[in-house]
Amino acid sequence: METAEIVGVGSELIRGETLDTNTAEVALSLRPYEIEVWRTWRVADDVERLAQTARELWRGARLLVFLGGLGPTPDDVTTAALARGLGLELAEDPAMLRTIAARFASMGREMTAINHKQALKPREAEWLPNPRGTAPGWRLRSGGRDLVALPGPPAEWKPMWAELLPKLDLSRSERVRRVLKTFGLGESQIMARIGDIWDVGVTSGVYAHHDGVYLSAEGDRAAVDGWLNLAAQRLDDYVWGRDEETLPARVLGILQEKNATIATMESLSGGSLAALLTAVPGASKAFNGGVVSYSMGAKARFGVPEDILAAHGAVSSETAAAMAAAVREALGTSYGLATTGVAGPDELEGHAVGTVYVAAAGPDGARARLYRIPPLGREAVRQRAAYAALAWFWRLYS
Ligand code: AMP
Ligand code: MG
Repeated sequence: METAEIVGVGSELIRGETLDTNTAEVALSLRPYEIEVWRTWRVADDVERLAQTARELWRGARLLVFLGGLGPTPDDVTTAALARGLGLELAEDPAMLRTIAARFASMGREMTAINHKQALKPREAEWLPNPRGTAPGWRLRSGGRDLVALPGPPAEWKPMWAELLPKLDLSRSERVRRVLKTFGLGESQIMARIGDIWDVGVTSGVYAHHDGVYLSAEGDRAAVDGWLNLAAQRLDDYVWGRDEETLPARVLGILQEKNATIATMESLSGGSLAALLTAVPGASKAFNGGVVSYSMGAKARFGVPEDILAAHGAVSSETAAAMAAAVREALGTSYGLATTGVAGPDELEGHAVGTVYVAAAGPDGARARLYRIPPLGREAVRQRAAYAALAWFWRLYS
């Protein structure tokens, strides 16, 4: 199969100051096409090394994409490096220079001398206009192959790439990749249930995330759909969604179907649960509000009975259930959802790090459940606790 090579440009990517998400997103966007991405690259802002990278990769690639380094500052050298590496002649385009000047004028600023270099492109290349920034990209078609330079900021390159991609004449792939999303089973428990159909007729994958374990299948559409349905049967109660679905959106969907509302009371997740819910557009239709009741005093103040706190402590199923019931009462919602537990690094009240109780309260009462989250670090425990609460609600009320 023909290959695509994708290069993120920037010394900050090597240092880890900026996490390179660009190359992965371009790779993902190529999935529906008959073109293989089996590696991606990050290269420092260094003309010689970028030139060498371009020379080596252009030899074998159907598509070569560089992202970043198209800005006006001295460390933005992608265009110069590609020209040097591939022996392309650069030319300044007066029309593009006027466009860039006009952009500056519209922002009430003066274009400076250093912006001139953004009007440079290989003579044979075509511009890829950038309506959201000053750095345009360019594309060079040569012998049925494409060389593409895009700016680094995702908000800028994504619309440019979306417009270009269909014009690259890549053939569509018959292969699809679909995902089942589960919560409550570990990877090995999942394998115990589906191990005998692993890689049968499809390419299987299993990945642990904060919102559960994902199971993927790649191959022909019909085979993938059949395989996924079989796997979903084997994992019955644990599958909360597919493909692009998210757990908070599933929970809000359930609430909207019931014409119901929800409120949250969080201890160890510290607002992450409310943040997950409010990240979903339209959350206000069902999410009423939330409380972070971190101390015993705050829990009591927001309605958790003091005798429960005294008898069972902060980290207990009784307290979790009372928190969910209390916030449901306080905010007058149909449901309440709560988290309490030990984020770490130290254990608490004799409970190990990762001991998490989540609870959901509804018209039928409050129910709590214990999750033992692996000690993957404080942030991971906090995030997983928030997802555990959503999964528990989904489990009880979907
Ligand atoms: P540049 O076009 O190289 O000047 O990059 C400008 C900005 O785009 C950087 O400061 C980052 O915020 C973002 N950016 C650049 N490269 C990447 C990348 N590979 N992944 C994610 N963001 C990036
Ligand atoms: Mg840069």
